[in-house]
Amino acid sequence: MDTTKITERGVEASDVRHTALLIIGSGAAGMCAAVAARRASERSGKSCSITLLERNARPGTKIRISGGGKCNVTHRGTPAELLEKGYLRPNEKRFLRPAFYSFANTDLLDLLRSRGVETEERADGKVFPLSGDASSVVVAFEELLRESSVRQLFSCRVRSVKRQGKQFLVTTAAGASFTADVVILATGGVSWSRTGTTGDGLAIARALGHSIKDSSAALAPLFTVKPPPAILSGVALRSVSLVASAGGRSVERRGDLLFTHRGFSGPAALSLSRDIGELATIFGSASLFVDLFPEQSAAELEEKFLFQARKSGAQMVRKYLQSCPIAPLRGAFALAVHGTLPTALLPFIMRQAALENDVTWSVLVREKRLSLLAVLKRFPLGSIREVPLDQGEVSAGGVSLAEVNPKTMQSRIVPKLFLCGELLDYAGEIGGFNLQAAFSTGWIAGTHAIDS
Ligand SMILES: Cc1cc2nc3c(=O)[nH]c(=O)nc-3n(C[C@H](O)[C@H](O)[C@H](O)COP(=O)(O)OP(=O)(O)OC[C@H]3O[C@@H](n4cnc5c(N)ncnc54)[C@H](O)[C@@H]3O)c2cc1C
Repeated sequence: MDTTKITERGVEASDVRHTALLIIGSGAAGMCAAVAARRASERSGKSCSITLLERNARPGTKIRISGGGKCNVTHRGTPAELLEKGYLRPNEKRFLRPAFYSFANTDLLDLLRSRGVETEERADGKVFPLSGDASSVVVAFEELLRESSVRQLFSCRVRSVKRQGKQFLVTTAAGASFTADVVILATGGVSWSRTGTTGDGLAIARALGHSIKDSSAALAPLFTVKPPPAILSGVALRSVSLVASAGGRSVERRGDLLFTHRGFSGPAALSLSRDIGELATIFGSASLFVDLFPEQSAAELEEKFLFQARKSGAQMVRKYLQSCPIAPLRGAFALAVHGTLPTALLPFIMRQAALENDVTWSVLVREKRLSLLAVLKRFPLGSIREVPLDQGEVSAGGVSLAEVNPKTMQSRIVPKLFLCGELLDYAGEIGGFNLQAAFSTGWIAGTHAIDS
């Protein structure tokens, strides 16, 4: 079996090597494409050389840091459910549908299991390797690549890809050249640039004639003009509703929210960051609010307050709020664990509502009660200063989906060029949807690259 793992130092600048299929980028999409290509070539009986070029010294750098080093590799559910839960936009859903059906989460888990990686499904649907170690996923793919006789070249940064007659001429930063019959671009997005994703693939795709949608942040923390008070840094709100408004438009997401020293993070902030970034770009900024009791209308909350006032007039309002669950135990969230308002936040709520810290129900007149209700339903968190692109778990934007065939991942502009993974103009939700999208699009790119 031809198992070559060499570094670019071993390639003379004057060497021009030929390979049938050349894949650029050894992340989830590129590695999966290489394995799928070998399987397709074996099925069709065509022997072909497959080469994988990676600028880092080893494969799968982003997989290794995914899910805090535990790698949330995919999500439970049918392909249709994944497309729905992944917060994908309508055109992204349409584009990813064939890939999610061709190489589903179950196919990915079977592939991993075949190399000894067992996985576990969490109550929220996220799937992780049982070992709790993201690198086990990379090790499994390394083994699959070895078995697939894929030549891997590391520390090899591709600079340009040009069409030269019926072939591609691929040149690296160190001056080495390759010719290839078919090229798969799998260079990822542009966030976490220190992992190797600096947008090289986007420049290459643009030079080949593709339109590129500007990159923007997704699954990123939110930085506010005035950072939250230091005392709140690290405080978490469970199952609240985060709202961002600008220019008469607003976007909203339910989930946990974390105060940080620069703004906000946690699932609700990360999940809404793409929409917030867009609002802030269009309108110059956006205002953030949190509905601290998202499952109760102001009228329902007021009813509870009036009941409490009748029952325990001498009780301090602050004490009651401290023990009042954020959401009542009913409806769709009945099984979820609900928190109460963090003690550290209460003085800020009282101040915002212009109430004394020790005010009791018996002296809370209607006007003050309404002021408190207004603050609880729309507590201001400040204005957005930045949604930092580089700190996003993914980046939105990339190669226009309209220019790529969703059934094959082949370019509609350049024959025999395939594109897959985060390089494409989609961005999914936290929960394993982005890795699944990279694996699925990589798989069909590799499969169809052999038939092209
Ligand atoms: C901190 C963090 C945590 C995350 N956690 C999760 C998670 O738990 N679950 C989930 O689903 N998603 C998660 N993601 C997102 C997920 O990791 C990515 O969406 C996914 O890895 C993208 O795969 P890809 O193959 O398209 O790109 P990448 O994995 O980024 O791979 C692209 C590869 O191309 C290489 N490359 C780039 N340019 C060149 C060049 N010029 N020449 C040669 N090689 C090049 C890069 O070095 C890189 O190795 C996380 C991301 C981050 C940053």
